Amino acid sequence: MTQKDMAQKGMRKNDTAVVKITDIGVNGEGIGKVDGYTLFIKDAVIGDTVEAKVMKAKKNYGYARLMEVIAPSPDRVKPQCPFARKCGGCQIQEMSYERQLAFKAQKVRGNLERIGGFSAELLDQVMEPALGMDAPFGYRNKAQFPFGTDKEGNPVTGFYAGRTHHIIPNTDCALGVPVNREILEIILNFMKKNKIPSYDEKTGKGLIRHVLIRYGFATREIMVCLVVNGTEISEAGELLSELSKIPGMTSITLSSNMLRTNVIMGDSFDVLWGSGYITDYIGGIKYRISPLSFYQVNPVQTENLYSLALEYADLKGHETVWDLYCGIGTISLFLAQKARKVYGVEIIPQAIDDARENARINGIENVEFFVGKAEEVLPGWYQQYAVSGGDSAGNEARADVVIVDPPRKGCDEALLGTIVEMAPERVVYVSCDPATLARDLKYLCGQGYVLERVRAVDMFPETVHVETVVLMSKVKE
Ligand code: SAH
Repeated sequence: MTQKDMAQKGMRKNDTAVVKITDIGVNGEGIGKVDGYTLFIKDAVIGDTVEAKVMKAKKNYGYARLMEVIAPSPDRVKPQCPFARKCGGCQIQEMSYERQLAFKAQKVRGNLERIGGFSAELLDQVMEPALGMDAPFGYRNKAQFPFGTDKEGNPVTGFYAGRTHHIIPNTDCALGVPVNREILEIILNFMKKNKIPSYDEKTGKGLIRHVLIRYGFATREIMVCLVVNGTEISEAGELLSELSKIPGMTSITLSSNMLRTNVIMGDSFDVLWGSGYITDYIGGIKYRISPLSFYQVNPVQTENLYSLALEYADLKGHETVWDLYCGIGTISLFLAQKARKVYGVEIIPQAIDDARENARINGIENVEFFVGKAEEVLPGWYQQYAVSGGDSAGNEARADVVIVDPPRKGCDEALLGTIVEMAPERVVYVSCDPATLARDLKYLCGQGYVLERVRAVDMFPETVHVETVVLMSKVKE
């Protein structure tokens, strides 16, 4: 039988096979071939030889379950968390951190080659090794724990198993800070003692839905926000007295969410104890964070990411800079220290309220924020000032540096078109999705820009998420 005949034979559900893992899929799963038939095997690490059982079979490929590791890969490590396989939070905890970083750099490179059409020679020159963490655990400053009820009727909290809403009880996530556990145990004990039920998604009954915990890495301030299916927690005094004893506790709030949705937070919150926010610093800039504010979850790598963006922007102090998709203005404020003027654009009005407030509490005056779609605000601005030639306040159509940090879907072409017309010397692209990044870079590099530097920054160790920072410069005419 030829190789081709065997491939056509395929595999069926419940077939088992011994597979050598030769590649990694986009979700961190191991990929191996059995007589030309491709198997995707969750929890298998590149380099492993495993026994796998087919769970779902298509014509040319299938999804299989890891039954046994027959010969472990040199890159396989013991996971730090006992729930690493079941939990949906981490996908690649069983891969050595070095290998994770190589995987992420390769993922970016692969997209730039395939979708961006960039040559291997160019990528060899411009790609820098992924920027990782010294300690890739305990990095998250924010955790949202769902509450449920176990078979015995006790309240439980933990994390959802991959692609489900089934809670795996665990108060000690390895990516979070140690104080999470203490806080959750206090809340669970309080619920048991006072017979306060967890919310049940199926019936819409019960009270405690989620608990949001935020921790300021620089200030050590702690925030707890209880999200409830109601408007109050009876006997809350007892709970507040316990929680407020925790060193660093700064804010305890309650957010009422009585809607039957997957949205975690309610629209507003009430302060139960302390203040309604905590403060934290990134790169010397102070931020006020409420339960509803967006704030980067990995403060250590965020500072590294912004420093890299700043290095790529190469500001001397006289520049006009646009920060598109600016969120609460973190990149804008970081760059404003080195620029003449920074303009930030963001679609969510509350985020811009926070951005303005953050500028105010830091005494930063050379920033201006706009609410709106980047693909509408920037073209509108450009048209206005291209015609008038600028005004006495120093507003002008041109820019020296443009930074974009879009959501997964990337930038709208109307925005990219305006960037090209504004002709900044440098464009810095911060991306959370290498595929749309590659698409947008291809556009810009077809319109007078060249790729200078590309670096993956590991904002989310142990997961498959990749963040990338790219520098492009305008081709000299
Ligand atoms: N640069 C920020 C946040 C980037 S996340 C930081 O580093 O913290 C992407 C942001 O883009 C989100 O805040 C989202 O609300 C915003 N956004 C999404 N679509 C947008 C659009 N079309 N125009 C402007 N902002 C948009």
